[in-house]
Amino acid sequence: MKKAIFSAAAAALLLTGCGNSTEDKLKDKYKEPDRSPAIDITADKETVYQISLLQGLTLGDYYGSVTVAELKGKGDIGIGTFEGVNGELIMLDGEVYRATSEGTIEVAPDDETIPFANVTFFNSDEKKKINDVTDINNLKERLDKKVESLGKNRFYFIRIDGTFKKMHARSELKQEEPYKPLAEALATDQREFQWEDIKGTVVGLYCPEYMKDLNAVGWHFHFISDDRNVGGHVLDLSADTADVSFDYTDGFNILLPETQMFPTLDLTKDQSEDINKVETQNEE
Ligand SMILES: [Zn+2]
Repeated sequence: MKKAIFSAAAAALLLTGCGNSTEDKLKDKYKEPDRSPAIDITADKETVYQISLLQGLTLGDYYGSVTVAELKGKGDIGIGTFEGVNGELIMLDGEVYRATSEGTIEVAPDDETIPFANVTFFNSDEKKKINDVTDINNLKERLDKKVESLGKNRFYFIRIDGTFKKMHARSELKQEEPYKPLAEALATDQREFQWEDIKGTVVGLYCPEYMKDLNAVGWHFHFISDDRNVGGHVLDLSADTADVSFDYTDGFNILLPETQMFPTLDLTKDQSEDINKVETQNEE
């Protein structure tokens, strides 16, 4: 909770795998370490670090720009996806996991690349018990109330540990080029899973309202079971009791990718409807 930092940095850090002239140019640009805000911010544990825009992913930019190993330098908790939307990304306690299209979990290899993610270094600023969570909207309402009291204009990463009476999650099949917009891909390639009385952790991110052009506003949750066997993007859940830990995070750093698609994407159009569709259950 230090000073708020907002910087758009197309940092050379994320391009170490590219080996082309763009990389060289960026290397030149950032060769003095203190000229790159991204390098300074690496050590800032109160910063949410974002790879690309969710709006880029929803348009079909599934090209990875940062490796799993690089992401681990930016946080130890987070959510996102992999190149080709090859499953849902869950980072927890410093490990990066993939929830596959079967709903199973595997550890992601360090050299795999990531088109979109949010991570931070988690340190709990506050813990509380939450009881009788009836469904995901009930959870969101209660967390929103908490956010109202803490301040709705900063970021919150949370982890919810407990046994979930119901956990409804999704993942998706890896996409092949040419990539379709995410809503179209998910219409056929989303896979859903239901588990009952399952012990695990929900990783959640709250983005303030002013993030509407860069991410999804409000809450976004991914789940991983305690035994690291199953997980995914949470569509619904319920719990009798669970422990919520909050990390108040008032720095934000975004890395704009140098993928083949990103520089020419039309990011001017409002995608809130599409984003709502891909983030929540279709009937909502
Ligand atoms: Zn998700």
